[in-house]
Parts: sequence; C-alpha cells; structure tokens
Amino acid sequence: MKLKFSAFAWLFLGSVSLFAQDQVAKKYGDLITTTDLKENLTIIASDALEGRETGTRGQKMAAAFIAAHFQELGLAAPVNGSNYQTVEFFKSLPGESYIKAGNNTYKNFETIAYSGSMDSNGEVTLPVVFAGKGSAEDYAGLSVEGKAVLILISGEASPRRLATVAREKGAKMVLVANADAAEAKSLLDQYKMFLSSGSLSLKQSTSTNAGMFIITPEVAEKVMNTTIDKLTKTIAADAKKGSIAKVKPGSVTYKTALKVETVKSENVLGFLEGSDKKDEVVVITAHYDHIGKRKSGEGDLINNGADDDGSGTVSVLQLAKVFAQAKKDGKGPRRSILFMTVTGEEKGLLGSEYYSENPVYPLDKTVVNLNIDMVGRRDPEHKDSAPYVYVIGADKLSSELHRLSEETNKTYTNLIFDYTYNDENHPTNLYRRSDHWNFAKKNIPIIFYFDGIHEDYHKPSDEVSKIEFDLLQKRAQCVFYTAWEIANRDQRIVPDAK
Ligand SMILES: [Zn+2]
Repeated sequence: MKLKFSAFAWLFLGSVSLFAQDQVAKKYGDLITTTDLKENLTIIASDALEGRETGTRGQKMAAAFIAAHFQELGLAAPVNGSNYQTVEFFKSLPGESYIKAGNNTYKNFETIAYSGSMDSNGEVTLPVVFAGKGSAEDYAGLSVEGKAVLILISGEASPRRLATVAREKGAKMVLVANADAAEAKSLLDQYKMFLSSGSLSLKQSTSTNAGMFIITPEVAEKVMNTTIDKLTKTIAADAKKGSIAKVKPGSVTYKTALKVETVKSENVLGFLEGSDKKDEVVVITAHYDHIGKRKSGEGDLINNGADDDGSGTVSVLQLAKVFAQAKKDGKGPRRSILFMTVTGEEKGLLGSEYYSENPVYPLDKTVVNLNIDMVGRRDPEHKDSAPYVYVIGADKLSSELHRLSEETNKTYTNLIFDYTYNDENHPTNLYRRSDHWNFAKKNIPIIFYFDGIHEDYHKPSDEVSKIEFDLLQKRAQCVFYTAWEIANRDQRIVPDAK
C-alpha cells in the first residue's frame, strides 16, 4: 500500500519535475537571500544616488559600489585590470534658439520649444503659410515649398507626425501651435521636459533634422499678424473650400542651434573564469543606470529605479556572489561567466551596444546572454497570481535554450512563465527594448526576464518599499539555475541553423 502510493506520487511528481535537482546547484541557489537582495537594493536605489542618470555622479556612485562588490568576491577585473569599460557618449543639448515675430523675440523653452537637430547658422527669415490643422485636404491649393508652415492643432494630434507631412510637402520649417492656451502650455511643458536634458548617442549625430517649433497661440498671432480666433474660424469655415488658402501669409525669423558635449560613463564588469570550458562565456546583464531626477515639480523628484533596474542589478550581484562561492568551494562553473551591469540603457541601450561593438570576450565564444531588467514587482495583470515572470526571446535564436529554460524552471523554481511579450510583433516591442537585444542582433541566444509594466514605471514612486523581495529572490534563483545549467552542461548552447 505504502509502496504503491509512493510509486504513484513519484509518477505524479515526475510529470511536473522532469529532471532531478542537482543538489550542488540547489545548495548555491539557496544562498540567494532576500536579506542580501534588500541590503544591496537599499543602497543602489537610495535617494543619495539621485536616480543614477547616465554620466552623472549618482550613476558613478552606483558603478563604484558594484565594482567594489565584484572585487570583494575576487572576480577578475577584465578591462586591462579594471572593472570599468568606459563608454564615451555625445550629448546633444539645445543651443541658443529663438523666434522673432513682430517686434518680439521669443526664447527657447519660454513661449516656444525647438525640437530638431539643425544648426541654422544664424537667422533665417521665411514667409509663413497657414496650413489649417495640417491635414492632407488643408494643403490643397497651398504652395509651401521652401517656406515655413503654421499648423493649428487641438487635443491629441501628434505634432511630430504633422511636421513630417509638412516636410514632405516641401516646407522648410514647421510651427505648431495649440489653439487652446492651457493645452498649449502643457504641450510646451512636455517638450521642454523631454528636450532640455539633451540626448545621448554613441556616434556624433550627423543628422540635420530641421524639426519644428512648438509655439504658444500668442506667438502664432504675432507670426501671422492676425488673431487665433480668426484662424480657428477659417478652419471651421473651410467646408466652403479654399478659405485656408486665402489667409494672408505671415513672416518669421528664427535661429536654431545645438550644443554638443561629451559624457563618459561605464559598463561595470566582473569575470569568473570557468574550468575545462573557460573559453566559452555566459554573459549575465542588468542595466544599473536610470533616468535621474525630475527637472521640476513638487515633492519627491528622485526616480529611484528600485525595480528598473535596481532589481536586476542586485540580482546580478547575488548571482556573482554565489557563483564565486561555488568556485571557492571547488564547484565553480565549467564555462566562464561575465557579470556585467551596463550603462546607458535608458538612453537607448547604449552601454550594451558599445559592448557588443567592443566586446571584451570574443562574441563567437559568447554562449548566451541572460538579461534581467525589472524583476522585483508584479504588474496589474498578475495582481493575485502565483509567482510568475515574463520570459522574452528564449526561443528566438535557439530552441535548445528555450527547452533548457523551461526544464530548469520546472525542476527548481516553478515560476509561471508568461510568454505574452515573447511575440516579436507585440505592440510593446519588448523583445527589442532592453540590453539583450544588442546580443541577439549578433546572433547570440538570449533570455530577457521582466515583471511587466506597472503604475510606478519611470516615476519617483519606483521605490524599494514597493519591491516584493521573496518574488525577486525566486526570479533571481530562476536565472541562477538557468545560468548554472548553461555553464555546466557538456554541449554548448548554439543558435538554430537558419
Ligand atoms: Zn529598465
């Protein structure tokens, strides 16, 4: 009876857990603790680090903390004896841009905002053609070639899209005004917030996108030498065709300029050499930079990025710790492991792009990239769910990796793997939105671990107090067992034949 029962139980468990747990792996997986995760995250996501914006002192404090952690563990500093791979960025900032109309000069970020990357080399004066709401019909009968165009928008209309249309018609400059004063102010504030901190790139931008000016109704009136009321009425009356074309052209003088600075930042690397397959490298990544402080507003202005991606960063620190411990105990991995926290993710995956173009270990010996970006929270879709994680990209380049990832999870962690975002055509485009993408582009199999989009995403409220540490621990363990299996198995994971 007893025997029968246990045989039955074994069969049942067998269908859940296909493989026996490796007790050595289990021993080290158990060393990933909520205490350690919390201790490190409390530092990485503290206000003192000011939101870890790329190139700022807060980011550098985080880098120093991570490097010290790797050194303490005895990991190799693989960039000519340093843990830092320095990445130089070009930072494009708004220069002196303005609009002159009537007798007034309107300065950038006061009543206007210039969004573009063109240096006008001094003042340019152009006639201004009124193009109504900027719809295709509005352009009928208008000649805008080589001129400036004024578009009057309302509500949710996208200035960028309308500017593109105007440019296709041959306009040399585009002015976009919202007719409603309150909406105009909020539009201007949005552009100001977005543009004033500048943008980073790895190569100096050679694009000369003439862009557009967002302007207030007041400036639009000066440019057209008429009232907004009259312009709005013209649009309304245009059912009677041709009234837009009858609006007398205005005139504008403008100057646009850019300032370019260089900014240095760092990828932080710690390397654990493998044993009999040490030339092959497993790369485990998380980005440690975040979006910094809000430039204006009330109350808490620091975007702590506890989940994004403090949670991934401290997971990498924990994995480094337990793999290093295993090696000290004579149980180190057969393949080497590169633990790399990358910079510039929030600026466009720039740190990982730099690494993939300037790899410290040859890419053809780089087996897999496991990328952890946001793993400490749950999204509204999983409010009451059992422990889960979104798994993205595992099957895209290697069906073997996908199988391994599934089996390892079933054996050790039993998280619910949610594949919603695994669809390459999912509108969120998550397969291309974190650092693994730069490895995938090089045909290196990847897995991206993610907890979903929640209400505190990219907000000061993304704080340590909101992290579920037991969930974070389970996910970090899941990545650990996957890495353990990839690093120790006989056969290297390879991309599928194309
Ligand atoms: Zn992130």
